Amino acid sequence: MKYYILFGPPGAGKGTHAAALVEKYNYKHISTGALLRAEIAAGTELGKQAQELIAGGNLVPDEVVEGMIESTFRNNRDVPGFLLDGFPRTIAQAEALDKMLAKTGEEVTGTISIMIPDELVFERIKRRAAIEGRADDASDEIIANRVKTYHAQTEPLIEYYKAAGKYHEVMGDGPTIEINRQRVLDLMETLQ
Ligand code: ADP
Repeated sequence: MKYYILFGPPGAGKGTHAAALVEKYNYKHISTGALLRAEIAAGTELGKQAQELIAGGNLVPDEVVEGMIESTFRNNRDVPGFLLDGFPRTIAQAEALDKMLAKTGEEVTGTISIMIPDELVFERIKRRAAIEGRADDASDEIIANRVKTYHAQTEPLIEYYKAAGKYHEVMGDGPTIEINRQRVLDLMETLQ
């Protein structure tokens, strides 16, 4: 089983490009953000706990997302691999993922990092807000906190995966979606 991590700041295009990778390789896309939003929409206990944290641009507790990831792995054994989108987001989550996979003698296959500058994060998310209506896309203050959270808690993962020889980066700030998508597809092809 292959385990790819789609990495990058909010608005980098992880979800958008995941769709192209799913179409080409049939991998199972797991977006922890989308799973959490589904819990909120369904009004579950977990959703209620996550709602405020997400709305403030903060991360939900590691154990919550780790549990979601582990059960998605367990329930999808008939796919060639997984595309993790938005997980791991902290060093603790990355260590938990390594441990989870080590139980079955497996490991992360590679990290595909999509980089964009902070200014573009704001621009993209504001455009997305008008289309998707996500509560955490709605205000500059929340977006700024997500960027801050990214730099403080998620960016250290770059060194973590570099040290493991599993870090691969493309720039996601090309002029069109198609150009950026092709960069991601070309990189994925080298990781097969
Ligand atoms: P974006 O694409 O803007 O990064 P996501 O859909 O990935 O947004 O995540 C939305 C929110 O869900 C995050 O800001 C965070 O509050 C929560 N979330 C998603 N994934 C994780 C995770 N791995 N750990 C903790 N919180 C998470």
